[in-house]
Amino acid sequence: TDPSVIRNFCIIAHIDHGKSTLADRMLQCTGVVQPRDMKAQYLDRMDIERERGITIKSQAVRMPWEVDGVDYALNMIDTPGHVDFSYEVSRSLASCEGAILLVDAAQGIEAQTLANLYLAMEHELEIIPVLNKIDLPAADPDRYAAELAQLIGCEPEDVLRVSGKTGVGVPELLDRVVTSLPAPVGQADAPARAMIFDSVYDTYRGVVTYVRVVDGRLTPREKIRMMSTGAAHELLEIGVSSPEPQPTEGLGVGEVGYLITGVKDVRQSKVGDTVTLESDPAEQEIGGYRDPQPMVFSGLYPIDGSDYPVLRDALDKLKLNDAALNYEPETSVALGFGFRVGFLGLLHLEIVRERLEREFDLDLISTMPNVVYQVTTEDRTVVEVTNPSEFPEGKIHEVREPMAAATIIVPAEFIGAVMELCQSKRGHLQGMDYLSEERVEIRYRIPLAEIVFDFFDSLKSRTKGYASLNWGADGDQAADLVKVDILLQGDQVDAFSAITHRDFAYSYGTMMTAKLKELIPRQQFEVPIQAAIGSRIIARENIRAIRKDVLSKCYGGDISRKRKLLEKQKEGKKRMKMVGTVEVPQEAFIAALSSD
Ligand code: GDP
Ligand code: MG
Repeated sequence: TDPSVIRNFCIIAHIDHGKSTLADRMLQCTGVVQPRDMKAQYLDRMDIERERGITIKSQAVRMPWEVDGVDYALNMIDTPGHVDFSYEVSRSLASCEGAILLVDAAQGIEAQTLANLYLAMEHELEIIPVLNKIDLPAADPDRYAAELAQLIGCEPEDVLRVSGKTGVGVPELLDRVVTSLPAPVGQADAPARAMIFDSVYDTYRGVVTYVRVVDGRLTPREKIRMMSTGAAHELLEIGVSSPEPQPTEGLGVGEVGYLITGVKDVRQSKVGDTVTLESDPAEQEIGGYRDPQPMVFSGLYPIDGSDYPVLRDALDKLKLNDAALNYEPETSVALGFGFRVGFLGLLHLEIVRERLEREFDLDLISTMPNVVYQVTTEDRTVVEVTNPSEFPEGKIHEVREPMAAATIIVPAEFIGAVMELCQSKRGHLQGMDYLSEERVEIRYRIPLAEIVFDFFDSLKSRTKGYASLNWGADGDQAADLVKVDILLQGDQVDAFSAITHRDFAYSYGTMMTAKLKELIPRQQFEVPIQAAIGSRIIARENIRAIRKDVLSKCYGGDISRKRKLLEKQKEGKKRMKMVGTVEVPQEAFIAALSSD
């Protein structure tokens, strides 16, 4: 295809502002999906995505569109909407010339709208401002058109008004994509270069790699080379998605499509990498390649210990589809055999856990997630701590923790509530701007550890659901952090160790000891539960002793009932864990780790 008739664009929006619905409507408007084949959110492939209404993986669709008698090829590149996947977002944006900035006409600009807009501007994309959901009675398009126009520096009349639901305004929007976005440019006779913006494992076809060709041309049966590793593969198939895969005779400058080489692991086809030809390789990578960095670690354990091999196989399988998934075996006194797993963020953790439970029928328990700390000991060795149990003993020179830059947008009446919350999470105010008379953007620098856990929920509840949040990594900082251990009869229960700020150590200690006191059954002897920083005890509870004799409950009566009880007790024993001399049902640990 001649690059002059190609338009590559993405849709950027705050969650729930209607990106998937609009994408569906475009598929229908351009005729690539017949109305009878239409299912809501056609492009959100995975079940979990569909149910949660979020887009995890990007994908590209080619749609024909005619303007003034000329046939154009519009490539819509879907971008993941969540901050956990920001690197993938950046690669998708880098594959486009323009972006539709979609804003809910009843909500206005939200935090992810801004964050995505700034990213799109960094990539020098042409922006098409669009208000969506104009069919809603609560829509206030005049007001938000003004807000949007002011934000991106255009006239309010330039803001398009559409409804992804009814389809109103969608053909005009497609026309605008053709007329206001630039065509891609590249060197047709230079050595081939294509950037990978997504790669997906498919059970039948192996890894399907989505690329944007920058220079030259890729054709089937050639040998291609991945520039980050030098690995070469035969190009078995190349084509476009429309939205079902259609093999073609090749992809040239500005085109977007997929390729298949028969590799079985997404790690051999990495997002951000440059594909070139083995026979005539390019010299320069397209740039920006970066290995995914896990930000949050957690232990994952099967509730039934005999499921450990199933969990191992399941992780091996998921890894084929998720280059950001990282894990190694770990054992815990309380939980048995499991894995230490690294995630891009909490949503990534939840998705992985949900897929493991759903697709592999596993029951799992995860330990409290933690971020990655840089700990310098007195002799100046630096230890990277991804697990509280690796926290060095003895004197510590410095602990550094990762920081986040958070942007929060709220109605002005909630400024106080937001500031109070951010302050309590050790945040530092960086600035505040009014988007309009009623709405403000508040910027904080906050430790990542405080933001990745229940921050968003607290923010929502303090602002009656009005606040929106976006954050990104922002370096690291030294802080007064300590490891709190939980001891049972003087023995450490590994799964409950946590790294916290010294000011929060006491509340963590009292909370955990109180919780375990409730959950651990009485023993034949008194059992102290303690929380400690090093050798210093900061909290203590006691489980009082009991003379536990199951049979005495039966008053010497019915023999079969006695037998049943004994059997029950035996069965229970299998799930008992020994911590020192204390016998604890695994359920108690699991209950203590589950959020209530
Ligand atoms: P996404 O998170 O940006 O992909 O948003 P979705 O496309 O999943 O839409 C979020 C919600 O808004 C869904 O309940 C949609 O049915 C609804 N929605 C999307 N577009 C429109 C629209 O134009 N009008 C109305 N009334 N509802 C819409
Ligand atoms: Mg969506």
